[in-house]
Amino acid sequence: MTERNQTREVKIGGIAIGNGHPIAVQSMCATPTTNIPATLKQLESLEAAGADVIRVAVDNKKDAQALIELRRQTQAVLSVDLQENYRLAEILAPHVDKIRYNPGHLYHHERKKPWKDKVHFLADIAVQHDCALRVGVNAGSVDPAKLSRHPSDGPASDSVLPMVESALEHSEWLDQIGFTRYCVSLKDSDPRKTVSAYQKFAGTRPDIPLHLGVTEAGIPPEGIEKTRIAFEQLIGKGIGDTIRVSLTLPYDDKHQEISAGRQILKDISEGRVRTVVHFDENKLNLISCPSCSRVENEAFIDLAQKVKSRTRYARDHAITIAVMGCRVNGPGETDDADLGLWCGPNYVNLKRRGEKVGAFKYDEILDRLDSELKYLIR
Ligand code: SF4
Repeated sequence: MTERNQTREVKIGGIAIGNGHPIAVQSMCATPTTNIPATLKQLESLEAAGADVIRVAVDNKKDAQALIELRRQTQAVLSVDLQENYRLAEILAPHVDKIRYNPGHLYHHERKKPWKDKVHFLADIAVQHDCALRVGVNAGSVDPAKLSRHPSDGPASDSVLPMVESALEHSEWLDQIGFTRYCVSLKDSDPRKTVSAYQKFAGTRPDIPLHLGVTEAGIPPEGIEKTRIAFEQLIGKGIGDTIRVSLTLPYDDKHQEISAGRQILKDISEGRVRTVVHFDENKLNLISCPSCSRVENEAFIDLAQKVKSRTRYARDHAITIAVMGCRVNGPGETDDADLGLWCGPNYVNLKRRGEKVGAFKYDEILDRLDSELKYLIR
């Protein structure tokens, strides 16, 4: 293994990351959190595959109660993903090992309350209940104050600045209030931007442990390849203390995220890096989210597969198609795509280069996507 950055040690339940500890491999449950049997099955399957930490999304009090029940039934190291409702941390911290918050989501509730107060609240809760934190910055939901400082989307190396600034600002504040048991992530669906964001952050704060990931990497094998490109470049330069390979997979196959992550780490450590593999910006780029408890119709996973096979004819065109599993993050996460789809319970929404085209039934959307794609190619 190449030399790694001298990051701080951060304990998460029974494991530790940073300070030379082995790179931890994580995954996330995609089942509705309130479906306790299905989520427990997924937790068990991820744990059996060797997951070091498993994240579970919580949106509301029903989800929170379900996670508390799941905690009773599993020994897994658990991380809660707070999404917009940061105050749920108070209920959940006694039952989990790590709390992930997204700086860009802290604005949705109590809009007048300063973000620093909200982060202070989270840090206090984490201290009281022996939890680690993750500052999880994501390209699809960046802090609006940071986006407004960089209004034009520049070249790849510049467009990550709002993410990097947001992560640095939160890190500085956590340090100032005396909380250092945290790691940071800066995920983009484009591996080049992901690499750029992590390199910029680590250039300023090489001491902070980093959780690596290419968000919405998509369906295997392409989703694994995109992630591999980013991980090889980052881990090869000593950056990264924990990883997740975010793949769009049926629930029963979700454990493949762990095997894919372990394989990439093994290959890097044994020098089997695929320098010939590169992200070709002149080809069709299909991105799709790994799904989570917000998916309202499981048909999303099948749809992502069908979009892949139906659009194969466009493989030599520089077009990005994004397929997202929910109506909450879907609209924002598809902003940069040429064609963006996001799924509701009965309809799939479609937009072309930022303009909403309409909402279509699951059995109609592929034909409409096909005609929009042909229009763009023409
Ligand atoms: S886009 Fe929606 S369903 Fe997909 S991972 Fe993000 S929040 Fe979950």
